[in-house]
Amino acid sequence: MSLAVNIENLSVYYGQTPALTNVSLEVEQGEYLGLLGPNGGGKSTLLRTILGLVPVSSGTVRVFGDKPSKSRAHVGYVPQLNSIDRRFPITVFEVVLTGRMKKGISPFFRYSREDREIAEALLEKVGLRELKARRISELSGGQFQKMLIARALAVKPSLLLLDEPTASVDAASRDQIYSLIEELSRTMTIILVTHDLLAVSSKVHRL
Ligand code: ADP
Repeated sequence: MSLAVNIENLSVYYGQTPALTNVSLEVEQGEYLGLLGPNGGGKSTLLRTILGLVPVSSGTVRVFGDKPSKSRAHVGYVPQLNSIDRRFPITVFEVVLTGRMKKGISPFFRYSREDREIAEALLEKVGLRELKARRISELSGGQFQKMLIARALAVKPSLLLLDEPTASVDAASRDQIYSLIEELSRTMTIILVTHDLLAVSSKVHRL
């Protein structure tokens, strides 16, 4: 069985700025891995490299044995909250549905009934069913993160990457989000980026 993630001697530069130098990481399928580190330490860059969103300067990245561009369909991603424009006029349900959008199809793409059912079920799972029709600008930080998790799950991922999913989140939502991730970790590989050490150290399987 191939590793979920296999990174060897990876370096990534933004122009002249090194974001990652000579990083190696192996993640087994089924692992729940926490990545801790200071701001600017390259954690987000590492996740974006696993997604194939950032050009690799040197080294290799394999995800389920393939290049990231090939394995992309199996990877769910919860980006950092502050990387998103929350004023965009779209509803919670529509955001989750975008997780069902497939690449390389016609501009007249329509969601299937199954897509809608999956999105509905995921909203239920993350506890946002009642907020389905709400504009995303009206969500709290915790509700917004749960919505992003539902969207990431809509791709039916084998690997889920979460970038600071408890930043800007109230304590109750934070506990709910960690419970949800814990539950998800039984059925998929998880990499969780955080600097919330106390909150996760008792939860993740490896740090
Ligand atoms: P972390 O997630 O651990 O805070 P990042 O991966 O965001 O770290 O950043 C690693 C380094 O790369 C930092 O020095 C940051 O300033 C730089 N960096 C991140 N994104 C960009 C970008 N889009 N353009 C230029 N530099 C970047």
